[in-house]
Amino acid sequence: MKNIIILGSTGSIGRKTLRVIGDFPAEFNVVGLACRSNVELLAEQTRRFRPEVIAVADKNKFGQLKQLISDLRVSSSSGAGVRILAGEEGLAEMSGYDKAQMVVLAMVGSSGLLPLLSALEHGKEIALANKETLVMAGELIVRKAEEKGIRILPLDSEHSAIFQCLNVHANGFLPPKKKVDSQQEVKRIILTGSGGPLVNLKSSDFSAVSPQQALNHPRWKMGSKISIDSATFMNKGFEVIEARWLFNIDIDRIEIVIHPEAIIHSMVEFIDGSIIAQMGVTDMYLPIQYALSYPRRFFSKLASLDFSQLKQFSFSSPDLDRFPCLGLAYQAARTGGTMPVVLNAANEELVGYFLDNKIKFTDIPRIIEKLMASHSARHGVAIGDILEVDKWARQEVRKFC
Ligand code: NDP
Ligand code: MG
Repeated sequence: MKNIIILGSTGSIGRKTLRVIGDFPAEFNVVGLACRSNVELLAEQTRRFRPEVIAVADKNKFGQLKQLISDLRVSSSSGAGVRILAGEEGLAEMSGYDKAQMVVLAMVGSSGLLPLLSALEHGKEIALANKETLVMAGELIVRKAEEKGIRILPLDSEHSAIFQCLNVHANGFLPPKKKVDSQQEVKRIILTGSGGPLVNLKSSDFSAVSPQQALNHPRWKMGSKISIDSATFMNKGFEVIEARWLFNIDIDRIEIVIHPEAIIHSMVEFIDGSIIAQMGVTDMYLPIQYALSYPRRFFSKLASLDFSQLKQFSFSSPDLDRFPCLGLAYQAARTGGTMPVVLNAANEELVGYFLDNKIKFTDIPRIIEKLMASHSARHGVAIGDILEVDKWARQEVRKFC
């Protein structure tokens, strides 16, 4: 029985993780749940899964949460009943909860960074959806995980695919006994992307794209921030950086291929020219289940892929002119140091402004580019410097907007 904490349990990934856990009650047990402010759903999840500790990041919601579960015995210290924590410090404390073996990082944006570092510090196994943390502080996170002997298990479908391709290469279908040396044996990683909702839009129509239009992803139902990132292609850019850190591979050996059917979730080409691809139905249930069950595989309730229904597989290259965010992400990744921190922070702020109808869709790459041009990247930095650059970039964005 694996004891699991989910940070961001009320979101799209968090809810699906709870579905997987609910389907395997003999394998997984929820010990902790956390959200930002949706205490109604957190209370409902608490009733269903009976965690020992819950947390809400928004301190103003603490009283309401306590009220909502007042009939379940609430304890203020770890003991019987449900313990309720609040604020950033509450989340960091929860990440180190002694009874948990695994922390699922399903929060969105930079807010997941400190809880992730706390979970690593406490030696927890990590299942990571919150890719922004790797964009901001990949080097630091990977170093800390190595120090602690922890493997970060990807939840992102593309990275789960790459992880599975590498595992198959290492040891056939058995759990891998060794890690593949990506620098030596991998020629390139081919990250697939469905193209998002605007893949066929004319250049001249981009400035008039509305939030509703950009949120309307053709293949995946996701939270609003990642949906906009998918529409701008920043999500693919982030995934390149995510792959760079998770699999220790140079940026220039990571390629993107548009595959609208979203059946091949990514591929690895080895130095002899062999390509291994991972396929499956388009449902995050699958990569989430694999991360939770790794290195084992469990029988899944998902319907099998029906090849007779797949009329074609198509592939094309991404268009960097219409989707400049992708080029900016490659540029930030190549520069390294604190440049991806600027990329991430500016993007997060701008996506918020766009969703509030305060800026145009095309302002997102335009302003990120300006900010990156005005930043001199610092290398080999500590967490304090990362947080400082993150704050600076957000303040600059506010000036522009
Ligand atoms: P959602 O917006 O649906 O959910 C975000 C979750 O994080 C919610 O539970 C939210 O709580 C919580 N949260 C947000 N801010 C804070 C905070 N400051 N402190 C504590 N909790 C917070 O996002 P998704 O589930 O779509 O995405 C989560 C992450 O997974 C993102 O990084 C995304 O890029 C990544 N991802 C998502 C995929 C998907 O299919 N959705 C696929 C691959 C990766 P509340 O509900 O209270 O606001
Ligand atoms: Mg993805």
